[in-house]
Amino acid sequence: MPPDTTPEKPVVIVGGGWAGLSAAIHLAHQGRAVTLIEAAGQSGGRARTVMFGELPVDNGQHIALGAYHHLLELLDIIGLHESLVFSRLPLSLNIMGDAGSVTLKASRLPAPFHLLGALLCARGLTATDKGRTLFNWFRLIGADTRHDMTVTELLHGTGQPERVSHFLWIPLCIAALNTHPDTACACLFQRVLKDTFMRQRKSSDLLLPCHDMGKVLPQPALDWLTRHNVKILTRERVIGLQLNQNEITGIITSRQTLPAEQVVLATNAWSAAQLIESIPGLSRLHKNLLQFDYESITTVFLRYAKAVMLDPVMQGYADRFTQWVFDRRITGQPEMIAAVISADSRYSNMDKDELVKTVIDDIKTVSKLPNEPTDSLVVRERRATFSATPKMERLRPTNTTALNGLLLAGDYTQTGYPATLEGAVMSGRQAADEIQKLAVRTD
Ligand SMILES: Cc1cc2nc3c(=O)[nH]c(=O)nc-3n(C[C@H](O)[C@H](O)[C@H](O)COP(=O)(O)OP(=O)(O)OC[C@H]3O[C@@H](n4cnc5c(N)ncnc54)[C@H](O)[C@@H]3O)c2cc1C
Repeated sequence: MPPDTTPEKPVVIVGGGWAGLSAAIHLAHQGRAVTLIEAAGQSGGRARTVMFGELPVDNGQHIALGAYHHLLELLDIIGLHESLVFSRLPLSLNIMGDAGSVTLKASRLPAPFHLLGALLCARGLTATDKGRTLFNWFRLIGADTRHDMTVTELLHGTGQPERVSHFLWIPLCIAALNTHPDTACACLFQRVLKDTFMRQRKSSDLLLPCHDMGKVLPQPALDWLTRHNVKILTRERVIGLQLNQNEITGIITSRQTLPAEQVVLATNAWSAAQLIESIPGLSRLHKNLLQFDYESITTVFLRYAKAVMLDPVMQGYADRFTQWVFDRRITGQPEMIAAVISADSRYSNMDKDELVKTVIDDIKTVSKLPNEPTDSLVVRERRATFSATPKMERLRPTNTTALNGLLLAGDYTQTGYPATLEGAVMSGRQAADEIQKLAVRTD
């Protein structure tokens, strides 16, 4: 008999966000045939480049942390040195409010003493506040958090001083979980604190992108995937799945039908819900995905006539509409400031001009920057992340589904992390690992 020359059916990955790119890279790295399909004209999903006039900016200012091991591993696989895309700064926080400011800088001690040293030497906290925070640190990260406990309950239950919560834990919770502490899940917050502050000193480093997000991962990832024979289809929407009984056999796009050995739905949760809607056996998953709640993030980019300097480059505002401001000199745009308003549903009806004016007033008042910008761009992502609440933790699905050969990837799946670049990349890797396990079992 002649050898079987039927070409290997590919794993089809639906969605070229950071989760889909991660799944594609891990599978191609393991030698699998892969096809990646993205509905938009560009990859990157919720972490992508947008244009502000002739300048590339992002759909939202992003930062990463030294604790993002899965993301750093991915850069390693595609041969992209971290320093080419991120500027690594030791943890330094400067948060300003109506009642003064709090500044802390990681000390040179190993973790977690680098944080404890930073708290001890922090400016803007009384000796009593420092003593109570240090004494209660291990209670904060070690408390037995019931699955329905919120961050506010955790902070109260572990005796965090009011001023430390106001200037530190609450801004960090909103930044990391994009959810207000009154509703945010305590377990998720603890996980972020542990990974960031307890493992290694460098885990708490801030990684600020040196380029627009498209150049940080999506474009280098696509170049690597092309070199590794991955078929990449853009501007092609997947509109249906093909099944044979309880097994996936292919996908239907706006242009064609493609056979698939396995399919990874690396879309956002609402697109995944649409694609599985009519599949018998997935009705529970479909129902859960429809119950997801989301939080928005608004970024206001302000362009000035000449370079503006914020010192430090990233500043937190504790009592303002604007929460974080970034001087984009690290991104090579010294004449630009990005202002971020997370979990901002309270302002969803605010008119664009009023929003820009409020941000400019905040920057003038808090950072004492007298200059007037010459231009502005508002990017509002209404479903930026899922709400990191205890309810949502119960709804997040695993990567595997009840349909053979169909997997999910995306920041919303069960990763133990909030919706972040790290969560997305981790989820892509988990989906690739599940596919690899199937291959080993079949051999
Ligand atoms: C404004 C903003 C600021 C943020 N800031 C940070 C930050 O500072 N740090 C951080 O770690 N995280 C941040 N995040 C979160 C982070 O960007 C996301 O968690 C991550 O990008 C999600 O990636 P994903 O691949 O899971 O999903 P997505 O990015 O949503 O990717 C899904 C992809 O699937 C495609 N798709 C959907 N349906 C179909 C279909 N039917 N056929 C084909 N393709 C389809 C979409 O076009 C998209 O490209 C921020 C998010 C936003 C929006």
